[in-house]
Amino acid sequence: MENKIKKEFNGRFGKEGQLYASSGRINLIGEHTDYNGGFVFPGAIDKYIAAEILPNGTDKVRVYSIDIDEYVEFGLKEEDVPDQQWARYIFGVCREIIKRGGKVEGFDAVFAGNIPLGAGLSSSAALESCFAFALNDLFNDNKIEKFELARIGQSTEHNYCGVNCGIMDQFASVFGKKNHLMRLDCRSGEFEYFPFNPVGYKLVLLDSVVKHELVDSPYNKRRQSCERVAAKLGIDTLRDATMEMLDSIKEDISKEDYNRAKFVIGEKQRVLDVCDALNKGDYETVGKRMYETHRGLSEDYEVSCEELDFLNDIAKECGVTGSRIMGGGFGGCTINLVKDELHDKFITTARDKFKAKYGHEPKVYDVVISDGARKL
Ligand code: ADP
Ligand code: MG
Repeated sequence: MENKIKKEFNGRFGKEGQLYASSGRINLIGEHTDYNGGFVFPGAIDKYIAAEILPNGTDKVRVYSIDIDEYVEFGLKEEDVPDQQWARYIFGVCREIIKRGGKVEGFDAVFAGNIPLGAGLSSSAALESCFAFALNDLFNDNKIEKFELARIGQSTEHNYCGVNCGIMDQFASVFGKKNHLMRLDCRSGEFEYFPFNPVGYKLVLLDSVVKHELVDSPYNKRRQSCERVAAKLGIDTLRDATMEMLDSIKEDISKEDYNRAKFVIGEKQRVLDVCDALNKGDYETVGKRMYETHRGLSEDYEVSCEELDFLNDIAKECGVTGSRIMGGGFGGCTINLVKDELHDKFITTARDKFKAKYGHEPKVYDVVISDGARKL
């Protein structure tokens, strides 16, 4: 990929720039916890966006996307926003740096990636983080703090792409470290690295390629349930709730709200359990918690769907160590922790059975936990 970028850059601009990269991400555990002030547990993966960039001494950005095969030029003022969606991610990053008092001048760029788009691996966060990291290095002497780079990506999604996302994806892409996952406290913004080096296991994503569009905004309904229970308990978020507290108000809340809160409270503990287990290198416990999260998401939080439950069942039948929905639910991927010797059989079985039932195969992505934003 880097060679292709270099060749293209040289062919177009007749010069040589500097190469940067940033990665996609997985979240091992900690789902629907961000808006409850809880923990998420992501890591960067070995699939990434790479860009070659060189300041061009003008006030124009000239950028070519190899994968989309499109060339775009734009200025750096608010009204210069490009029409192309992919270019808005880059324009947004430039604008958000400038808005914060940072410097961005014209540059030439060529970029490409190998993160599947829209599969739940956050290709957009990788794109933002790659350019945010690069522009910090090229124009700002790396004075912008890394957490701010993640916020620049998040604000880009909010202000230029119409996606009202949290901070996890950009955080993971910027801070990712080989063989480590990161427990991010969504309330304080503090985080800690934990070793993740599952020798003898593989991490595999199975993308169901289904996305159920639901009519009555289930995401907002889940949030409202959590807020109602927190209000009843007199606390800001469910982060501060325990099962005992929840049980003490069981008669005063609906069964549905009870189940939603039960999942969130359980999920907080499962993340902490996984951290302990990783410190001991105990991947079997990690796997058990993943299955528990899946069951909670499916039965209590009710954000699974038939296809994802089916993939989870196949994992169980095949003796896979851990498996769960990754992401908000209602479609997308399962993330699976699989012993090396079971890997091929699991993939074949999942492909065959899923196809027999739903008419198409799931997509398979093997991932390895790797570094995030970097100079190449
Ligand atoms: P994801 O879950 O992968 O982040 P999004 O819809 O948020 O999905 O972001 C995908 C968008 O990001 C694409 O439509 C495109 O605009 C941009 N993008 C991601 N990867 C690339 C790439 N390799 N080349 C060009 N644009 C990309
Ligand atoms: Mg995205």
